[in-house]
Amino acid sequence: MKRNYFLLYILCAVHFVQAQQYAIVIKGGHVIDPKNNIDGVMDVAVSDGRVVSVAKNIDTAQAIQVVDAKGLYVVPGLIDIHTHVFFGLEPDHSYSNGPEAVRPEGFSFRSGVTTVVDAGSSGWRSFPLFKRQVIDVSQTRVLAFLNIVGEGMRGWAYEQDTRDMDAKLTAIIARQYKDFIVGIKVAHFSGNEWTPVEEALKAGNTANIPVMIDFGGSNPPLSIEELFMKRLRPGDIFTHCFGQLHDRESIVDTLTNTVKPFVWDARKKGIAFDIGFGEISFAYSQAMPAFKGGFRPNSISTDIHARSINTAMKDILNVMSRCLAMGMDMQAVVKAATWNPAGEIKHQELGHLSAGAIADIAILNLRNGKFGFFDYKGYKMEGSQRLECEMTIKGGKIVYDLNGIANPVIIKTVVQKQ
Ligand SMILES: [Zn+2]
Repeated sequence: MKRNYFLLYILCAVHFVQAQQYAIVIKGGHVIDPKNNIDGVMDVAVSDGRVVSVAKNIDTAQAIQVVDAKGLYVVPGLIDIHTHVFFGLEPDHSYSNGPEAVRPEGFSFRSGVTTVVDAGSSGWRSFPLFKRQVIDVSQTRVLAFLNIVGEGMRGWAYEQDTRDMDAKLTAIIARQYKDFIVGIKVAHFSGNEWTPVEEALKAGNTANIPVMIDFGGSNPPLSIEELFMKRLRPGDIFTHCFGQLHDRESIVDTLTNTVKPFVWDARKKGIAFDIGFGEISFAYSQAMPAFKGGFRPNSISTDIHARSINTAMKDILNVMSRCLAMGMDMQAVVKAATWNPAGEIKHQELGHLSAGAIADIAILNLRNGKFGFFDYKGYKMEGSQRLECEMTIKGGKIVYDLNGIANPVIIKTVVQKQ
């Protein structure tokens, strides 16, 4: 008799394991998870904020919500490593507690983005305010590159002040807030000195984090060969890589329309090339010959701010779509917006769908049709595909659902709690 009870216990236990209750099961989507070399139709199960498994035919019987992802791509939540989200009400503070920045939830979830990295809007003086005012109150995960300028991007004059570029104090704040600060930023400097780069590298070495360079502009332009080959370290990031401005050296030789040989060497050395599209920082005259020659960006980012958001750039999906139009395939585009940027900011706990990983997931629709992608110079490229965000899941919760593909669409207990 005792033995029969034991058998019953075993059978119940097996049944419990088989009918495990999942918070969400995403059914029938085409999963692309570059870290794990997954590229095919699979289901994804999520519970307690984590990915439980990615497999064929996951049972939905006990799932609280089931998402129909047939015909859609299921990818890790997108990571945008060049944004400006230190929004504030000071009218003359530009991107640093000013109106040139944008709030994360204004653009993130509706474009599949679960993590944004602010690219130097704050410096060591203003980071604590940025944390209180934006990082701590955002639903989006907000990380940051700390500007080498103590005041951050408070305005052009502040950004030229080499006396406010202090490697020591920058490194102290970077270490103090190491859960949020992923690197040091150099930007908008128009002098002929290397001071900002030198100070940023000193801070980067002390805090053991990468440096991201927006090479500003100077007359005559500073040498990017010297920057890449003599100054930067493997793992440092060159953003605005397809920019073409008169006061900044470009990576493509405009006479031969080929990528300069030392740029290939820089890539071999381990320097990451990031798009940072922005308002005037992406030119097809650079991107197209680079793509044609096989030089693709390591990471796709937006440089989103109050002006770039409604111009040629729009959102990360628009930038990814034009990379498709220029010849990158879907797997490479997804990698450049997930696993690659996660590596660049040394946050490899993000950007993939391994069992146990934080459940940040984007469900994308690759629409077919006739689409246009232009740059700030007015050159327009036509494309036949455009990515659109259907759903975003952040930390295991559905935070955006364009067409109500979750069933049930809303969990009632959640609504009642609010
Ligand atoms: Zn920027």
